[in-house]
Amino acid sequence: MDLTLTPRWAIELASAHPVARFAAEELRRTLQRLGAPALPIVTQADGPRIVLRHGPGGDAFLRATDHAGMLLRGDGPRGLLYAVYDLLEALGCRWVVPGPAGEFLPRRERVVLPAEGLADRPAIARRSLVLGHDLFLADAEAWIAWAAQNRLNTIFVHTIGHGPAIGACRLATWRRRRRVLLPRLTERGLDLELGGHHLRDLLPRRLFTTQPDLFRVADGYRTPDHNFCPSNPQSLALLRQHATAFFQTYPEAQVYHLWPDDLLSGGWCACPSCASLSPSDQSLLAANALAEALAALRPTASVSFLAYHTTEAAPQVVRPHAQVELLFAPRPRSYAQGLGDPQSRLNPVYATQMAEQRAAMGGPVAVFDYYLDAILFKSALPPLAQVIAADMRYYRSQGVAAVHALMTGDRPWLAAPINAYLFARLAWNPEHDPAALLATYAEVRAPRSPAALQRVYTTLEHAWQAVLDRSPAEAALRREVRNQRDPILAPPLDVLDYMAAARPDCELRLERMGRMQADLLAGQAAWDAVMQSAFADRATLEAERAEWEVAAGVLRFLLLRQQLYVMAARGAERVALQQGLAAAQAGLDHLLAWAQTHVPAAARPGHLLLRTILQLHLDQLADQHIALPWQRATLRARRALLLRNLAGDPRLVWELVRR
Ligand SMILES: [Zn+2]
Repeated sequence: MDLTLTPRWAIELASAHPVARFAAEELRRTLQRLGAPALPIVTQADGPRIVLRHGPGGDAFLRATDHAGMLLRGDGPRGLLYAVYDLLEALGCRWVVPGPAGEFLPRRERVVLPAEGLADRPAIARRSLVLGHDLFLADAEAWIAWAAQNRLNTIFVHTIGHGPAIGACRLATWRRRRRVLLPRLTERGLDLELGGHHLRDLLPRRLFTTQPDLFRVADGYRTPDHNFCPSNPQSLALLRQHATAFFQTYPEAQVYHLWPDDLLSGGWCACPSCASLSPSDQSLLAANALAEALAALRPTASVSFLAYHTTEAAPQVVRPHAQVELLFAPRPRSYAQGLGDPQSRLNPVYATQMAEQRAAMGGPVAVFDYYLDAILFKSALPPLAQVIAADMRYYRSQGVAAVHALMTGDRPWLAAPINAYLFARLAWNPEHDPAALLATYAEVRAPRSPAALQRVYTTLEHAWQAVLDRSPAEAALRREVRNQRDPILAPPLDVLDYMAAARPDCELRLERMGRMQADLLAGQAAWDAVMQSAFADRATLEAERAEWEVAAGVLRFLLLRQQLYVMAARGAERVALQQGLAAAQAGLDHLLAWAQTHVPAAARPGHLLLRTILQLHLDQLADQHIALPWQRATLRARRALLLRNLAGDPRLVWELVRR
C-alpha cells in the first residue's frame, strides 16, 4: 500500500486516556510541521490511517504496516507516546537537547511513512533525569518535553528544605512551580520522584531544649547537629508524624527521598542503644519509619534508602520495610571507566557494595549517577559517552530497576550538555553505538561540519581521562581532611582535588595530564572548523563553544595546580614555587574572567563560591611552602573576608566539603 500521507489519511485513536490523546496530538502537530496534511484524529477511520493503540501499562512498543496503513501500539499509554516519537525519528526528527536549538525536523514535499515494522523495549525500567538546582527547575518545561521525546520516563526533583540550595532545588521553588509542571508531566505519563536530604526537617531541632534524648550522641554528648537517635521510639514516632505531613503536602510523587544529612562522616548516633548499629542500619531504621507512615497513605508509593558515604556498606541487622527501595549513589566512583569495569582501580569496590546492598535489601535497585553534576566536575562536564554506555550495559546485566542522572551545577548552562542525550538514549538501549549517538548530536547541532563537532567531543572526552582516572591513594585523600574551621589549613577537597597525593602518584598524574594539551589543541582546531561553516546557528554554537572553553580552562587549571604541588613535593626552591604559583593563579584568573562574561549576575555568587575553593587550594600551598609568617596572617584575613562577602557565612563552604 502507498504510505504517502494525503488529506485522505486520519489518525485513529479509540482510547480516551489523556497520555494517548497527547500522543495523537503530538503526532498530528509534528507530521504537519514535516509537511504532511493536517490529519484528523478520529475514533474510527474509514480510509487509510495510522491507528494508535495501547495496553494497560509499560514502555515497550511496536510499529507495523497493514492493508489500511500503519499501527502503533504501546504496552501502556506512555509506550504509545514513545512509539509516536520513534516513528517521527524514523522520519528524520531529532531532539538532542531541549528547545529549538536541539530540534531537527526535516521539511518535505511529501511525507512517506516507513514500511518496515519494529518492536522495541527499554533495557532499564525507570530512566530518570534529576533536576538538581532552581536554575534547571526554571527551564523544567523544556526538559520535561525533551525527556519524553528521548524516552526517559521519570523526572526526579531533588530538593532541599533548609540551608543553602547547593546541588538541589529549594522545596519552596518546587511548591511554586508544581502547578505548572505537574500537568506537563501528567500529559506525557512521566513519573515524579521528589526529595533530598530532608530527614532532619522531620525532627525539628527546637525539640532539643526539652527532649535532648531524641537527638544523637556524638563525642559522649547529645547534640541536635545532625540526624537524630533512631533507637529512641519517640524519635521514630515523631518522624512518622512529620513524614505523614510531608506526604500529604506533596502527594504528587511515586518515590519519596527523605535522606539523612549530606555528610562524609554520616552524622549518626553513638548512644548505648545505637552503638552496635552501623550508619546503614541506623539510616534504614529511619527509612522504615518513613515507609510505615507512607504505607498508611499510599500503598504503591515508596521511600528510598540512600546508600551514600557512610551508608555505602550494606545494613547488617535491620531489614527493610516492603515500601523501602535501595538507592545506590556511588559519588566517589571513577568516571574514567564503567562501574562494572574490573580494570578500574576504584570501581570494583562500588560494584561489590552494590551487589551486597542488593542482597541485603532484597528488592529493586535504583542507581543515582552524576553524569550531569557540574559541581563534581568543577562547573564543567566531561563528555561521558563510553562510560555511560558501559554503565548502562552493566546495570542492565545486574537487573537494575532505575537509573537517575543528577543534573546540578552552580550556573545556568550556555548550551545543554551532551551527556543528557547520551544518558537518555543509552538507558533505553545500551547497545547504541556511542559514536553514532555523538554523530547524530553533531549533525543536528552543526549540520555543515558534524565531523568537526564530533571531534570536539571525542578529544575532550579523551582529555578528561587524564583527570578522571584516579589511584586509590588519590581517592583516599579527601577522607583524611579533618573538619577544621580554617579553610586555609584544610580547604574543602572534592573528588577531583587529589593534587596533594604523595609521590609517585602526583608525578604520574602530572605526566598524564601533560598529554591533555594535544587533545585541547585538537579540540580548539575542530571548533575553528565548526565556526567557519556556522551560519544561522552561529549564536548557539558560540554558546556551546563557551561551554567547551570552560571545560578546557578547568583542565588547564587542574594541570597547573598539579604542577605546583609536584614542585612542592620535590622540594623546589621558593622562587620556582612562586613562579609555579603565579602560573596556577593565572589559570584560575582565566576561569574567573570567563565567569565575568558567561555567568549571569544572579548566579555569580554561587559560582564564585565554588571557584574560591580552588583559590583556597593555591593558598594552602602558598601557606605551607611560600608565605612568610607575616604574609600568612594577611592571607588568612583576606580569604576570611572573601568568603564572608561571597557567602554571608563561611560555613557555607563547609556544606560543600561534606558531599
Ligand atoms: Zn542513639
